[in-house]
Amino acid sequence: MEIINRKLDLHEFEDYLSSYYFGAQPANKLVIHHTWRPTKEQWQGQISINGLKSYYEGKGWSAGPHIFVAEDGIWLFSPMRKDGIHAGALNHLSIGIEIVGDYDNEKWEGKTKYNALGTIKALMFYLHLENKDILFHRDASPKSCPGWAITKEWLFAELASFRKLPRIPSISPAIEEISAPIPEEEVMVPIWATDAVSFVLKHRLFEIRNQDDIRDAVKFYRLYNLIQNEPE
Ligand SMILES: [Zn+2]
Repeated sequence: MEIINRKLDLHEFEDYLSSYYFGAQPANKLVIHHTWRPTKEQWQGQISINGLKSYYEGKGWSAGPHIFVAEDGIWLFSPMRKDGIHAGALNHLSIGIEIVGDYDNEKWEGKTKYNALGTIKALMFYLHLENKDILFHRDASPKSCPGWAITKEWLFAELASFRKLPRIPSISPAIEEISAPIPEEEVMVPIWATDAVSFVLKHRLFEIRNQDDIRDAVKFYRLYNLIQNEPE
């Protein structure tokens, strides 16, 4: 079985879709699943993908689902321009999306939820799909898949309010941010250093932020006085 075997974040997935060829007859629906096992806790990224691949190969399948959505990213599995094997009668012209975890008793959360909603929304956009084109495995199977806690009413409401996080800029932060001054803490100035510190602050020679700065101020002030008092 050939799999794409790439893990993308949501922005990378959208970039991938923007130039993806979905075939002469692109998929016209999404079928949502949950893996049930492995659970979110059992998921081990590449190790799990390899395990699933050999599991499907053991069944003699030529393909599996198209996408696994997990806490660690969006995993590309079988190519989306070909029918996968994941939902029996619904396999033809559908994209099979497996959400990693067991959702019979809890809804998607955290990065899994973000990646799942983002994946579905992006595919709807690029395949020109509507809510009615989003199917659950259980629509054509006695299984609970994608989990009893996941309902279409909930999913459609979540999709409607979903917002992508901004892309993290790849440019380095501005110099000002790197050299931003350390927030001033209260510095205890000993009596014997008050004149020196006052002098340094009055003339804005340097900031007094810690005991080292106080010592520098005293040295500077002594030197200054020494020079001032030098006979001509
Ligand atoms: Zn399923």
